[in-house]
Amino acid sequence: MDFKFAEKEEKLRDEVRKFAISEMRGKQVVSGMEEESRDEDWEFSMQMSKKLAQKGWLTMAWPREYGGRDASFFEQHVYINEASYWGIPGSTMGVSGIGWVGPSLMIFGNEEQRKKYIPPIAAGDPDGVWCTAYSEPNAGSDFANIQTRAIKNGDEYILNGQKIWTSCAHRARWCWLAVRTDPAVTKKQHGISLIILDMKSPGITINPIVNYAGIHIFNELFFDNVRVPVANLVGTENRGWYHLMQSLAFERHSIAPQFYGMAQRSLEFIVDYCKVTQYNGKQLAADPLVRHKLAERAIELDMLKMFGYEITWKMSKGVIPIYEAARNKAYCDYVMQRLATTGTDVIGAYAQVDIRSKWSKIKGNITRLYMMFPGLSVAAGTDEVQKNIVGQFKLGLPRSY
Ligand SMILES: Cc1cc2nc3c(=O)[nH]c(=O)nc-3n(C[C@H](O)[C@H](O)[C@H](O)COP(=O)(O)OP(=O)(O)OC[C@H]3O[C@@H](n4cnc5c(N)ncnc54)[C@H](O)[C@@H]3O)c2cc1C
Repeated sequence: MDFKFAEKEEKLRDEVRKFAISEMRGKQVVSGMEEESRDEDWEFSMQMSKKLAQKGWLTMAWPREYGGRDASFFEQHVYINEASYWGIPGSTMGVSGIGWVGPSLMIFGNEEQRKKYIPPIAAGDPDGVWCTAYSEPNAGSDFANIQTRAIKNGDEYILNGQKIWTSCAHRARWCWLAVRTDPAVTKKQHGISLIILDMKSPGITINPIVNYAGIHIFNELFFDNVRVPVANLVGTENRGWYHLMQSLAFERHSIAPQFYGMAQRSLEFIVDYCKVTQYNGKQLAADPLVRHKLAERAIELDMLKMFGYEITWKMSKGVIPIYEAARNKAYCDYVMQRLATTGTDVIGAYAQVDIRSKWSKIKGNITRLYMMFPGLSVAAGTDEVQKNIVGQFKLGLPRSY
């Protein structure tokens, strides 16, 4: 066993670091969840997506025929980790396209769909920006309860219904949409299909939902007799549930290296702050309570790093990491919450200052983290849902649904 990355990966890490330092100079770092909110941030983010694509990094682990460069999962891991550490915007491009639409189309899309939809994602083009619409007001964790109807009419589906919490819908060119194609099923997991929706189709209404931090990430979507060609069906009609299980595993697998990069930098910021800040005539870093909290966070981050390596290694062996992806997501949520809380304990009332204010400490990083962690712990499946998966797949407990 050789417990280190090879020269190739270390060289890549160094290149990404240099790229980040030169491209991000003077720019306010916005998190992946923030970049689609303000027009100027989104514009910068799209410019960066293009540059990342030109560097060959954006979708590096995809096959060359789909615009990737056949990079290993380990190279991809290092890139995701380093890009998140530096907060490079545009590296997820609205998340869905790179994260799961491209990889899913390669497995259960048809050739025509692959040729049409994958290249713009890999090229970092605005046409490659996707959103994902699964959740509905009565179908979140209980995703199989979706009611948005798609009725076949000749060579079209007619869509009616509502989606909610659709991240990036206001920026996306395409939507990865889950619909009910057969309501007369005995098991609600059946009768669901996955279709590609052109966001320019008539009959779609997009209502913004601005979150408690004043950030516009997600939206409500309403469909009023929206027409979609049957050719946009992905995979097999009424088998969408099974396709989506795979898609969700793609969604969750990269969370550990991504969160780890972001959290690692935040911890470094907090540690630096403790070294230069005096409290009651003493350096904060000399206070045993503070030191122990920082040490606990460092240990947790080391564990997260190991989880990330394990999942990448399994993927490199062709394993679809269902339990591991759920475990990592649950653990990320826990680590982020603890880190954000330690950060706010350390900077105290400054944590309440607006992130763009000149009074904010640590570049608003801790406040941002604190505002983000509750949302992150719900997005891509709540903590309880992840634990249900761990119970089923790791411990052999009965299904939770
Ligand atoms: C930042 C963010 C971005 C998002 N982006 C998208 C997106 O792009 N597309 C999209 O489709 N959705 C998106 N979502 C929605 C997200 O997927 C749902 O919020 C999530 O699945 C939870 O569903 P819900 O909000 O309906 O809560 P509910 O499912 O109603 O859950 C409420 C509470 O009950 C618990 N609970 C529910 N079922 C069980 C169970 N079986 N066992 C134990 N506890 C349970 C939950 O853990 C939770 O604490 C996003 C959410 C957030 C916060």
